[in-house]
Amino acid sequence: MAPVPKADLHIHTTASDGRSTPETIIDKAAEKGLYAVAITDHDTYAGFHRARAHAADLGIEVIPGMEITCDYRGRECHMLAYGFDIGNPEMVNFVQRQKIRRNKRAQKMISNLNKLGFDISLDEVTAESGTLNISRNHLAAVMVSKGYATHKKMVFNKYLGDHATAYFKTEYEQIEDVIKLVHRCGGVAILAHPGLYFVDEDINFLIKANIDGFECIHPSHNFALQKKYIQICDDNRLLKTGGSDFHGHQNSQHTLFGTVAVEKSWVDRMLEVCQQFKKH
Ligand code: AMP
Ligand code: MN
Ligand code: MN
Ligand code: MN
Repeated sequence: MAPVPKADLHIHTTASDGRSTPETIIDKAAEKGLYAVAITDHDTYAGFHRARAHAADLGIEVIPGMEITCDYRGRECHMLAYGFDIGNPEMVNFVQRQKIRRNKRAQKMISNLNKLGFDISLDEVTAESGTLNISRNHLAAVMVSKGYATHKKMVFNKYLGDHATAYFKTEYEQIEDVIKLVHRCGGVAILAHPGLYFVDEDINFLIKANIDGFECIHPSHNFALQKKYIQICDDNRLLKTGGSDFHGHQNSQHTLFGTVAVEKSWVDRMLEVCQQFKKH
């Protein structure tokens, strides 16, 4: 019997905080024998076109994807969007809003760092981030390059880590609103790695808010968690997804890529549901 085709639906590239370019990801996917991938960078799908162009010759399918940061009852949470229409003006606008939000927040943290006596400016930080959305990593890199710390970890421990002295929380859009937006753009909304931070009450809340499914297969989910989320999805007729969450930072991640994957029937079902949203 031929092995079941597999896809990795959770991958980061240099378009956000991954180490590999979209082209390298596609080459790796071909090498590892995957039939499809979704590039799910944080709050951007800038890597999609490059990945798809490169994948055409290799016969790899690239599904539109993105890992959206949103607010769930005051907490930051990650939602995976798949299959949405790439050029949809509402989606383009949403991604722009996410970028602006990060810019404003960076300015707040820079101002906090200035108050603490560090001479760092937004220009220096944007020189570091280039076309990417600004993250705390870029601020930390500038602090190190200006000699205020010997390494980034030190900057996080003292100033930029969650609730540290210069930290500023981003106010993200509510998950219920983001789910609706993804639907209007012809895509599906999946809660990323629920086992990391969600309890049953949250799961029920999100099902009521019309989430389309849960990421059942993720490196942070042991078999018990995989089984739990698969059961929840099956009981509620929701989509099951999964992937390696590859960032390419550690050697161990290279074995997860092409190993933590899902079967084609899950992907096919997901694309069918996207088609239903596109008809409305
Ligand atoms: P942001 O998206 O701007 O909130 O930044 C998140 C990124 O900052 C994460 O992907 C990590 O790479 C990094 N980060 C956050 N907290 C820490 C920490 N305590 N130590 C090192 N890196 C961190
Ligand atoms: Mn990441
Ligand atoms: Mn995540
Ligand atoms: Mn991720």
